[in-house]
Amino acid sequence: MGALEFNMEAPYIVGVDLGGTTLTAGVVTREGEVVCTHQRPTEAERGPEVVIGNLVEAIEAVLSERGLSKSDVAGVGIGVPGHILSEEGVCVFSPNFVGWRNVKVTSPIEERVGLKVTIMNDVNTAALGEWWFGAGKGTESMVMLTLGTGIGGGVIVNGDIVLGHMEAAGEVGHQTILPEGPRCGCGNHGCIEAIAARDAIVGRALLKLQQGRKSILPQLVGGDLKRLDPKIIEDAARMGDEVAREVYEETGYYLGIAVSNLALILDPELIVIGGAIAKAGDLIFEPIRRTVAARCQMTEFDPQRIVPAQLGELSGVVGGAVLVMRKLGMKRPS
Ligand SMILES: [Zn+2]
Repeated sequence: MGALEFNMEAPYIVGVDLGGTTLTAGVVTREGEVVCTHQRPTEAERGPEVVIGNLVEAIEAVLSERGLSKSDVAGVGIGVPGHILSEEGVCVFSPNFVGWRNVKVTSPIEERVGLKVTIMNDVNTAALGEWWFGAGKGTESMVMLTLGTGIGGGVIVNGDIVLGHMEAAGEVGHQTILPEGPRCGCGNHGCIEAIAARDAIVGRALLKLQQGRKSILPQLVGGDLKRLDPKIIEDAARMGDEVAREVYEETGYYLGIAVSNLALILDPELIVIGGAIAKAGDLIFEPIRRTVAARCQMTEFDPQRIVPAQLGELSGVVGGAVLVMRKLGMKRPS
């Protein structure tokens, strides 16, 4: 078999979102529409070979579910968490995946699936999806943040994604906001991820309860505070719970500082915020926008240009397809 190439004529692309617990493979049209998806557990704790086997099986499964053959597919694009070298097809390191150091990703999948594969960091991939087909469509410069168990980001400036010298750019979640703040998983102190991601939000609520504040939160979790999560805090805030409202207010304030830094440094047309925490909507967007309005007076960055992501859970799958579209030389829709 000769070297694989991307199939310029094929009508479909497979985009894959490799998450920490679940991976999703999707069949995507050249217009960015996801027509079929297949999910399976990542099994990240079982090491790279098992994960790559699961990727192969998901790609094969989604094609057979849609009744497609390999010749219908232009190629496969995968968003992979961690530090990725996309041209080499290698994952240098992925902190939440067991055993992922200098793992070859593209070549073993190409050998087993028989389709050309391209990879990029997962959050950069999701940002490309939102830029081509989601909230950022038609813009030239856009920053995306995803708020979940961690805080990730992707930076698009003047019509291209910024990868940096070592393809490590876009780590917006590890900017220091509180120099003496809580320790972050990256080893630094006071990163925005350590202050405003999932565990920090829950921790903020628990601290207020420990201080004896009155709240309906204990009641909402049946007295078991281990069950507390950002969604329950959001529900309480909507019921008018003062503690829960403060948690989102304070989280949004810190996020607003991080977003202000990005707005001032990069002058993006749009700042797109996605991920599970962003589903809290106005509860989190309002304090972010208010903080940005106060801190970006010099450039008068319009806080209404801070918007929610549109593709939801599919931004990674669509972004995976965009990785292939870029290789095909396709132009993004205007
Ligand atoms: Zn950090």
